[in-house]
Amino acid sequence: MTFSQSVKNEILKSVRNAKKCCATSFLTAVLKSVGSLTLGHGGYAFSVESDNVDFLSIIAEQAARLDVKSRLSSYNMSAKGTAVYSCRFDSSLGEKLGLVTRDEEGTLGFAEAENLIPSEPCCRRAFMQGLFVSCGSVIVPNVEGSDRAKYHLELRFSDAEFARAVNMSYAAMGLRQTPRKNHTVLYIKESELIADFLVYVNATSAKLELENVIVIRSVRNDVNRQSNCEFANIEKTVAASAKQLQAIELLRSSGRFDLLSDSLKQIALLREEDREATLEEIAAKLHISKSGANHRFAKLIELAEQQRKKL
Ligand SMILES: [Zn+2]
Repeated sequence: MTFSQSVKNEILKSVRNAKKCCATSFLTAVLKSVGSLTLGHGGYAFSVESDNVDFLSIIAEQAARLDVKSRLSSYNMSAKGTAVYSCRFDSSLGEKLGLVTRDEEGTLGFAEAENLIPSEPCCRRAFMQGLFVSCGSVIVPNVEGSDRAKYHLELRFSDAEFARAVNMSYAAMGLRQTPRKNHTVLYIKESELIADFLVYVNATSAKLELENVIVIRSVRNDVNRQSNCEFANIEKTVAASAKQLQAIELLRSSGRFDLLSDSLKQIALLREEDREATLEEIAAKLHISKSGANHRFAKLIELAEQQRKKL
């Protein structure tokens, strides 16, 4: 099961126990985003198609709470060979949800997108739940994935006006808007905002799963950063050691080595014995401080430099 699917399943489970006012808002969001209006002999009717039977049976169940009958039927095979189902609602649903309006002469019209978005907090949540299960998706990088894998949550609308209204009304969620082909997409890329979104739509297990991914990935990035840092230190040691060995070699070849003080000879010998030893390791062997060891190496390099000038 994909992460998107588990989020949707969690939402659908929580919708089952929603209040009646919220059931209305949930259905409004579903029908406005993925419903289609068809005209038949019996007048017009809304229907929703999906390959997810559970989704359709839950919306049918919610419609029944508003005394709206529906008929679920297996519809067709998609190009991929999966069955597509259709849920066709009684014609009263559109007006009950306020999706369609009828003027005094009985002419049908469509409600303004912004008027469909509820204002009660409970219903606003249900509305967003309806949007996500209908036209939402979320991708979370897997724990082993590359660092370039991204967090991404989106809602995809065929009606740009509706997308804009949703974006305005839910401004606090931090959704960004972009056109994509014939659609308008509202999306979030920040993992913390995605976590907030999941909590908002009651997908709390999915949110915990997401937080796990965030934590594991950030720990792993820290480890990478740390080992990069260690590697840089090793490189620094190697470069310093090469420079010191060059100086010692020059002092030896010019016959200057035997004239060095004991303390300088001692540290030079230790360096020759172990070219990869760090300054700390050499200092420890001599029972002197790191800066003391550093000072002695600087002296060796300085003497070698003087010798070079003489040659
Ligand atoms: Zn409500």
